[in-house]
Amino acid sequence: MKSVYIHVPFCESKCPYCAFSSAVKKTADEETYLKALEAEIAARSPLARGNAISTLYIGGGTPTALSPSAWLGLISIIKGAFRLAPDAEVTAEANPSTLSPRHVGLWRGFVNRVSIGVQSFNDAELAFLGRVHDTRQAEEAALLCADAGFKTSFDLMFGLPGQTLRGWGENLRRAAELSPDHISAYQLTIEPGTLFADLPLSGALTDGYGHYRFAQWFLPRKGYGQYEVASFSKPGEESRHNLNYWADGEYLGLGPSAWSHIGASRSKNAPDLAEYARMMASGKSASVYEENLARAPNARQAAVLALRTKNGIVWRSFKERHGKTLKDEIEEKLARFPKSLVINDGTAVRLTPAGFRVANKIWEEII
Ligand code: SF4
Repeated sequence: MKSVYIHVPFCESKCPYCAFSSAVKKTADEETYLKALEAEIAARSPLARGNAISTLYIGGGTPTALSPSAWLGLISIIKGAFRLAPDAEVTAEANPSTLSPRHVGLWRGFVNRVSIGVQSFNDAELAFLGRVHDTRQAEEAALLCADAGFKTSFDLMFGLPGQTLRGWGENLRRAAELSPDHISAYQLTIEPGTLFADLPLSGALTDGYGHYRFAQWFLPRKGYGQYEVASFSKPGEESRHNLNYWADGEYLGLGPSAWSHIGASRSKNAPDLAEYARMMASGKSASVYEENLARAPNARQAAVLALRTKNGIVWRSFKERHGKTLKDEIEEKLARFPKSLVINDGTAVRLTPAGFRVANKIWEEII
């Protein structure tokens, strides 16, 4: 196990579309969180079995909602428990509203990649999304990170109500001008349990098919190749942490709501900070859910994860891991799609760019 994820469960405010596990931080929360996280890391870091960690991802929530002094504590806990490989990819997620020069100063020599929640370069769109930053802050955050020598990734969102193709194109153009190493483009969806789910919004969303297709056309012309359904990068700047996840690799997840995949098991920590802290204080595991990956539904999920990437399902390793029967079943189901969407060269099966545009329909066939 060489990949570690750490979840920071705080945000400055809750975005109305967000289904991630996070809450607005109260005064005592940081200390509670760090104490519980330290206990979990002490208990579970031996699962790394002495391996040098090759990817560490600190996500959330909003890691930059942690104060610089909490970051000092977090870095010291991580360094005390894990050995990072010399070329380890260490990513921190950042929001333009909370990222400060002090964070950047503390990260030097530890973090080397910053994923910035830009979402849009249009202030009206940012206001609709309930973001607490504006376009100017997003640009400043990008420049701050780039000047400090960090690799950067931008998250962008399309399919907002009233968002025209021209408006989306302008967002992409401004993103490319800032020259991040990586861009993730997500369609706005209304998730159950979010504030948007209580509003009559679903009919107002823009059909994102054309927007997505435009990103697939525009970003490669700016030097960003598509390597996953929602991910584009400059050559060699793919997210190694996420590639391991999509390849169904092992990872250790720490913090409230974090998922782990170790051996044949996938488990999830308690999402609520108070419950997570209680479990850690009483010496229990923080896990509240566990499933066995050897079962067929999980193998199908692994197939879908693999089809998210341009590498697709590599038949040899899939067969070794999940058996010939399942491999044959999936191969037969995917053979029903035209070659314009799905290509099987006998070694691997993968989606074409047109296949990525209808990926949900293809995945449904497997699941
Ligand atoms: S900042 Fe990110 S994690 Fe926090 S509420 Fe907004 S979308 Fe969710």
